[in-house]
Amino acid sequence: MSNETLREKEFEAVEILPKGFGYGDSDSSISYEKQKNKEFFEALDARSREIIANGEALVDITALDDGCVDGRQTVGIVVRTEDGQEVLPIHVPNKERPKLAGGGYITAFTMRIGVGYIGADANTDLKDTGLALASKKIVAGAHIASSHNHIPGDVSTGCKANDEVDIAMDNASDASKFEAEIIETTDSLLKAASVELEDGNLERITNNWRKALNNEEYFKNSTGKSRLDVIFATQEAVNEASDSEDQIAVTKELIGEHNEWYFVINLIPGKTFSQAKMLKLLQADFPDLDPNDLPQAFVVDVPRIVELAGGAVDDEELSSAIAAGVMYQVSIASEITDGTLPVYAYGLAA
Ligand SMILES: [Zn+2]
Repeated sequence: MSNETLREKEFEAVEILPKGFGYGDSDSSISYEKQKNKEFFEALDARSREIIANGEALVDITALDDGCVDGRQTVGIVVRTEDGQEVLPIHVPNKERPKLAGGGYITAFTMRIGVGYIGADANTDLKDTGLALASKKIVAGAHIASSHNHIPGDVSTGCKANDEVDIAMDNASDASKFEAEIIETTDSLLKAASVELEDGNLERITNNWRKALNNEEYFKNSTGKSRLDVIFATQEAVNEASDSEDQIAVTKELIGEHNEWYFVINLIPGKTFSQAKMLKLLQADFPDLDPNDLPQAFVVDVPRIVELAGGAVDDEELSSAIAAGVMYQVSIASEITDGTLPVYAYGLAA
């Protein structure tokens, strides 16, 4: 690190969980451990950790909405035409967005259920989440993946944090799955973020998630696709109501393969860790490697959870909603990774 970087450094990057969360789907290919026998592992790992530690991909947020934690690259913005077809503009400006599992609408939906705002069914509750956020002028994002676009009859979207929202909530609210582990991890992350909670509050969240899951009607007609349709409709309404020439809430299409090696949890307001910038930096140092083989990071922006909580729930539920938002990030990690990804946190330097 140059002296200049040191002098200007106003943040701290700390590896808070070197061995990862420690639980998950052992068959998942999203794994740090499983990279170790790959060619160039040591060089790629060293350079990636340097990028994270130096904050080389830490950037200012430049968009109003948000995106998913997903480390894959964006190929374009999805728009819907009158006949319901989705088209992709070839060239779009790439803005820097805060990141949460499934984007803000999905994460805020789990936050509202977590504090007990449970209606008749998931699609309606997701719609109401969008309305609640819009009433506080908060708009959010989502994504699909190229591999899932235009497959007839496919009810998944390529965003597992949306497609498997019920499974992730189940992981956190079933004692025979990861309930105790997820509560413990969430508790330690909240302490790291200085969020104060009363005892028993995390159990109240998992109980509320369980309550929604136990209602057979709740997710019966709700799929990744139906939830994405709700999000599209919400985004169309907020974009139309906005004075901005740009779309202020977008659904992105991501391309390529998952290759996340790290979790980056950011606690600095106004900043995020840019996965596109990390790719660019790695490509410069490893020009001969297939971009799909370069390490990626999942990124979670905690200040965005705080912001969403302000729109999603009443004031007395703020800290519980924040806890539920953090818990959802941990829950989805238990579903899509093998739990071995080292976890870094960015905070303001003391
Ligand atoms: Zn996603």
